[in-house]
Amino acid sequence: MAAVEEKGKEREREKIVPPTPPQIIHDRTRGVFYTRVGFLGEGGFARVYEVQDRHGQRKAVKVVSKAAVRTKKNKTKLWAEIKLHQMLNHPNIVHFEDCFEDDENVYMILELCENGSLMDLLRRRKRYSEPEARFFLVQLIAACQYMHSTNVIHRDLKLGNLFLDGDMNIKVGDLGLAALIENPGDRKKTICGTPNYIAPEVLFDTVNGHSFEVDIWSVGVILYTFLIGKPPFQTKDVKAIYKRIRENRYEFPPEKDISPAAQDLIMSILNPNPANRPTLSAILQHPFFSDGPFPPRIPAAANDFPPDFR
Ligand code: ADP
Repeated sequence: MAAVEEKGKEREREKIVPPTPPQIIHDRTRGVFYTRVGFLGEGGFARVYEVQDRHGQRKAVKVVSKAAVRTKKNKTKLWAEIKLHQMLNHPNIVHFEDCFEDDENVYMILELCENGSLMDLLRRRKRYSEPEARFFLVQLIAACQYMHSTNVIHRDLKLGNLFLDGDMNIKVGDLGLAALIENPGDRKKTICGTPNYIAPEVLFDTVNGHSFEVDIWSVGVILYTFLIGKPPFQTKDVKAIYKRIRENRYEFPPEKDISPAAQDLIMSILNPNPANRPTLSAILQHPFFSDGPFPPRIPAAANDFPPDFR
């Protein structure tokens, strides 16, 4: 499901499909070039390709057609994404290497995440084991702690924006909806996020707005999705999803056999009152993390089969 900004209004730039970029992509200002070698995927307004730099190093390039960002509003959004992403430097955040443009497109050279997104993995695997969830959650929380320490709220954390590098480590990507809190205590009012993952205060507290706790809510939705295989409030249409979020209505299907520790952690995170949600460091102290095996790494075979961590 696509991200939304402002209630019921899709991003205007979503409508324009960018043409295929040239085989050799030139950064004329630096005099370097990248050879396009494959297609990785497309999102709301960008296409992402695998490229090789002149040393044969593999990278990803996110290509945004200038035609898609013609309006002032869309230009501002794109430059905000670039500015925020460029600022961030953390092992669990997709590294932003370079940015340039030609007449047609804006190009963002990014660290390549060879194993795709956690959404791709979920489609193949249906759900993850609790040991895998522990491993991925610790890395996701490390990225969130870092972003929040730099006053950045991601605002669109979801399985489709969590990528895996060649060693199956998490890399948070797509800073397209991220916001910078410029003054301590500032609150954001734009309704944005992805319906299944959106925190209740984003939808229903337009007076007080929202802040860092929206990412913590998404961490709870992500943990639930890891273990159950679908998001907690998922249902047939967006309005019904929002109704469930408002009523905090979700369940743990008994046949999924979710441990009491995992259930307790999810319930504490999915607290409708943002002030009562645990902090990121409190989440890491939860018994869920010491309640069973904590793998030192995830084998690449986990792409297809549940690994055995006993
Ligand atoms: P958008 O901002 O338009 O939603 P995304 O950043 O989500 O675009 O990227 C779209 C798709 O491209 C992703 O779902 C993924 O399949 C692929 N992709 C994006 N970034 C990378 C990357 N760094 N490495 C590998 N694949 C990527």
